[in-house]
Amino acid sequence: MPTEARPTQGTSGSVALVGAGPGDLGLLTRRAAELLGRCDVVVYDRLINDELLGLCPQARRVYVGKRVACHPVPQHEINQILVREGLAGRRVVRLKGGDPYIFGRGGEEARELAAAGVPFEVVPGVTSAVAALSYAGIPATDRTCAASVHFVTGHRRENGELGMDFDALARVGGTLVFMMAVSTTPEITRGLLAAGMDPSTPAAMVERGTTARQRRVDATLATVADASRDAGVASPAILVVGEVCALAETLDWYDKLPLRGLTVAVTRPADRMGTLTRHLRELGADVIEAPCIETRPVPSETLVGTIEGLREHAWVVLTSTVGVRCLFDALHCAGRDARWLAGVGVAAIGSATADELRRHQIEPDLVPDVFDGAHLAADIAARSRAGERVLLFRSAIGSPELSEGLVQAGLVVDDVACYETVLVGDAVDEHERARIEAGDALLVTFTSASTADGFAKAFPELDAANLPAVCIGPMCAAAARAHGFSCEVSARATIDSLVEAVVARWRELRGSMVPERP
Ligand code: SAH
Repeated sequence: MPTEARPTQGTSGSVALVGAGPGDLGLLTRRAAELLGRCDVVVYDRLINDELLGLCPQARRVYVGKRVACHPVPQHEINQILVREGLAGRRVVRLKGGDPYIFGRGGEEARELAAAGVPFEVVPGVTSAVAALSYAGIPATDRTCAASVHFVTGHRRENGELGMDFDALARVGGTLVFMMAVSTTPEITRGLLAAGMDPSTPAAMVERGTTARQRRVDATLATVADASRDAGVASPAILVVGEVCALAETLDWYDKLPLRGLTVAVTRPADRMGTLTRHLRELGADVIEAPCIETRPVPSETLVGTIEGLREHAWVVLTSTVGVRCLFDALHCAGRDARWLAGVGVAAIGSATADELRRHQIEPDLVPDVFDGAHLAADIAARSRAGERVLLFRSAIGSPELSEGLVQAGLVVDDVACYETVLVGDAVDEHERARIEAGDALLVTFTSASTADGFAKAFPELDAANLPAVCIGPMCAAAARAHGFSCEVSARATIDSLVEAVVARWRELRGSMVPERP
């Protein structure tokens, strides 16, 4: 839990009204990320992407969205919070979906801040009014068919009326973008038709635009209300009316991504989730992050003796990036540096481990072609003399395959546990857990035997036989099979290769599924 942040002494408070973009985290502006990274307080309501809060772990969180019984915090209370925190000298980020000034009530908040003399800035965001369209293959304007674009709220006024000038909208001829219009779509389309707009005008509904759960419903002005009701479209969604909607068929790039429609669970440790998740999302997958293991380095001081004896070894073997980091922490703790490895062979399992060594200016002497313990043992044995010592610097639950292979080859093995791998099923976020338990994931990826063990332990009720797994390496697959998963193994033990295997597996699975789209 973040603790109450203290304002920096000597700086006066200020409030930034920050546009959070439409959902895809990649569309957040650099200024927004910068302010989030150093604010004292973040004030937010419903966020389409919860991960935004991960960008401000230091900040105190103030949620002003819908509370029990779905009553939102009244605007005047939000204004008061912003003014109060600002006057108290804190750096406040008021996070708002899309752009703060496009139907975001940013203007009201800014006026209150101005009246109270609280310094403020406004960080524009990528509005969903444009971004959801782009991701749905609909250009907001186009020289061939739309010379203007109009953003219209579908929200009723206090008197219950829409208050739209349908005649003007029907006449204007550009692209009409209606926001907050899911429940009022029938009324809007009736109004436009009554004002004489052509019933065959292309129209579309874009739900949860720019997120992995984006859906587009294609229709015409006459049919879009029924079509989106039948498809069960829910907020947030945008109603688009205009000829540009017809271009989606050709310009739809997002739905053509190879992993569109796939919900995949990723089980890497939380601190190393990033790369795999990013790759999968870039290809259109909906990723559920379920970190089921955690690595906990042993205190470096306990490894000082190992470091002192390191040069008695012909080889030091690293099997993971964590192991490499532990090695350098231990070297540092022992008052040594990379020079202490001079004359000792350095072997690495996997390209990520090799890259981590290179980051520390060490070029590994050996990276086996096939990244598993048996191959590494054979490669080391081929380059050693009987009786030489090999230091394994790895997890406490490292596989016996590697050490056994080395011992059989006549080498002397020192197996040093530099970190523990802990199965932490309860570390899975509640929301993500519920999605996995509900069977949302169509695939799961395992990046080590321990992630398969951790996942099976975290979700004992899950029917493994019905959840295909894609595994990195044969040992990982063996562990997953032991829990009942049917496995594909990536060709190489790299993240890229794992992602390729996911793409191939999804192609097969999708082929065997009944299409879901309306
Ligand atoms: N300031 C926001 C809009 C706030 S009004 C912006 O600039 O995007 C809320 C409305 O925005 C929703 O009712 C919906 O119409 C639209 N909206 C927001 N995010 C959306 C998304 N990801 N996909 C589709 N519509 C979205």
